[in-house]
Amino acid sequence: MKLTEMSREQLLEFKNKVQEEYDGYKAQGLALNMARGKPAAEQLDLTEGLLTCVSKSSDCFDDNGVDCRNYGGLDGIPAAKKLFAPMLGVSEKELIVFGNSSLNIMYDTIAKYLLFGVDEESKPWRDQGKIKWLCPVPGYDRHFLICQKFGIEMINIPTDENGPDMDMIEKLVAEDDSIKGIWCVPMYANPTGVTYSDEVVKRFANMKTKASDFRIFWDNAYCVHHLTDTPDKLLNILDECKAAGNPERVVMFASTSKISYAGAGVAIMGASEANIKYILSLMTVQTIGHDKINQLRHVKFFGDFEGLKEHMKKHKALIAPRFEVVLDTLDKELGDLGVAEWTKPNGGYFVSFNAMNGTAKRIVTLCKEAGVVLTGAGATFPYGKDPEDKNIRVAPTYPPVEELKIAAKLFTVCVKLASAEKLLAE
Ligand code: PMP
Repeated sequence: MKLTEMSREQLLEFKNKVQEEYDGYKAQGLALNMARGKPAAEQLDLTEGLLTCVSKSSDCFDDNGVDCRNYGGLDGIPAAKKLFAPMLGVSEKELIVFGNSSLNIMYDTIAKYLLFGVDEESKPWRDQGKIKWLCPVPGYDRHFLICQKFGIEMINIPTDENGPDMDMIEKLVAEDDSIKGIWCVPMYANPTGVTYSDEVVKRFANMKTKASDFRIFWDNAYCVHHLTDTPDKLLNILDECKAAGNPERVVMFASTSKISYAGAGVAIMGASEANIKYILSLMTVQTIGHDKINQLRHVKFFGDFEGLKEHMKKHKALIAPRFEVVLDTLDKELGDLGVAEWTKPNGGYFVSFNAMNGTAKRIVTLCKEAGVVLTGAGATFPYGKDPEDKNIRVAPTYPPVEELKIAAKLFTVCVKLASAEKLLAE
């Protein structure tokens, strides 16, 4: 029965029962975590071969004879470029292979554009007064933190099952040249799991922007992270941008953080040759090159992109059951109550949960007090402010299945309790 259809007496009775259940969990002194999208230990074990595939000096050469122990190779070793170019759907000339973190490159790219402009001709963003950024919501908290740190004003853009609201985006970028960019997680988005439709990608490529130095930050962090045998498909935005006559509009990012090691993977950037050349011209002052031995390890371990995609099936086998536990528990416990909705993603690392307006913070607090840590309510919005206080990001990958079962159940108990409290207070 829907909670909203209950009489006050029924609701009180419901609340008292749930409160008892909650107190029972609290007494157990649990310490569980569904907060961050971290790979489980078994996932990390899948790439154990990375630790041994380069073990002596003679292993340190790639097929072209590059000695990966030495300086050089600012754009990455050729073998790694060959391995990773298909991941972003670019040519090897349109790719740079970096160190371990794509977030780090995104931060650094914004810093470069602020300090030096997006190309040789453009004015640095910092010299153009107040600048603004579009943020599809709910989104990735660390993207928003980068803008906040740099004092870039963020504008919330609602999203649906096709991606961000393109009507709103087209209107804003056509009118306001202080809008310099947008965060996009175009495939299995963090946290909604949405993959952008072909129409959305084409509109991004074709839209008129008042700012000539507008850039799409296309963070394709989950491009190979499928949870089903019928994966979503994403159009290649660089191809679309080229066809639309806007080849410089997009900068793409990805990494192996959730393919090999979250703490010791390889990150990549893809963009037009002109964009890549410009970024390299700035990078050359910054570093003589990244960790080439780690790049080589990845080449030796995965072989080619087909090998990498095959490897992702092993991840799927480990994490799909975890998503199932969470989704089954949500269905079973909350399906009939009419107080929440949630996503059923085909890939990525998250379930996005929308509770009753005004209850997300309370749910997260209740969970915390009973020993389950969730991502802070509001974190999925710029400035940490969810205007409706309803979105919670659930990350099922890290806890062992048995722990996850308890954490997911307790989460639903907290949702029931917070919803009943809210309805009784109305
Ligand atoms: N982008 C998105 C959308 C993410 O969800 C994450 C990790 N949670 C990252 C980037 C971080 O990537 P990296 O480890 O390569 O810095």
